[in-house]
Amino acid sequence: MTYVPPKACDGSVLPRSTALLIAHPGHELRVHRWLELAQPVVFVLTKGDGRDGASRIESTRRVIDACGARVGPLFGRFADRELYAALLAGAHDVFLQVLDGLADAFVALDVEYVAADAEEGYNPTHDICRYLAEAATAMAARTAGRPIGDFEFPLVARPDEWGADRQSGALRFDLDDAALDRKLACARAYPEMREEVTQALARFGAEAFRVERLMPAVPSDGPPAPVFYERVGADRVAAGQYGEAISYAGHVAPVRHALGRRAAERSIDPTQDAGQIGSHVIAARMR
Ligand SMILES: [Zn+2]
Repeated sequence: MTYVPPKACDGSVLPRSTALLIAHPGHELRVHRWLELAQPVVFVLTKGDGRDGASRIESTRRVIDACGARVGPLFGRFADRELYAALLAGAHDVFLQVLDGLADAFVALDVEYVAADAEEGYNPTHDICRYLAEAATAMAARTAGRPIGDFEFPLVARPDEWGADRQSGALRFDLDDAALDRKLACARAYPEMREEVTQALARFGAEAFRVERLMPAVPSDGPPAPVFYERVGADRVAAGQYGEAISYAGHVAPVRHALGRRAAERSIDPTQDAGQIGSHVIAARMR
């Protein structure tokens, strides 16, 4: 099933129900205009509490409220270190439970398309979020019996250039001065993101954030090499800060494959979906 986006992709036609799936609170600032227009249900994997343990989920709740979007059933459930520990331990059940919950929620909320973090090789949780989006939209689409769009946007790359070299199908939003001002004011008012926002504005300039582009996600062969998070991990192990570094091949790819397997299993064994599909499936099995 291929998802066909709404006819006008410039923001003038928007579907009824959309979802934003992000690894960390604060990512939503990158798609602030889309948040205002689409008013998605927002799913956030972690509290964004990093190494100092201070949650920033409430700051994201304020952004969501101000944009008229909605807080989803998964909203800062994990501490950052919990997900790192699960990755290092190969505790795939943690991620599979999230996958099941997301797929069920996308069906229950009648989601037409999902926007989620892109795979940039920058942070393993960002990339896991992308793989969750791939698997959950596929599972939800099969259960719902209709295509569900899966779009991605970058957290590190320059936003007005990212994806410009790819084929169309993008949902592109060009912010007018008032919308850009609201976006920048919102970003600057997010206390825990002050450093990141200042760095991003210094690096790219405010004009780069005038364009928001949601690109149809295409499954990759893995993050671009050299993988940034592997290099950071190796440096921290060398400095004695970490005992073991997260690698794509050793930790992230196995989770990705487990998610893919779960999505495929649920597509070929409808009995597992009986609760969502409804009584006609149960009746068919009883005959
Ligand atoms: Zn992040």
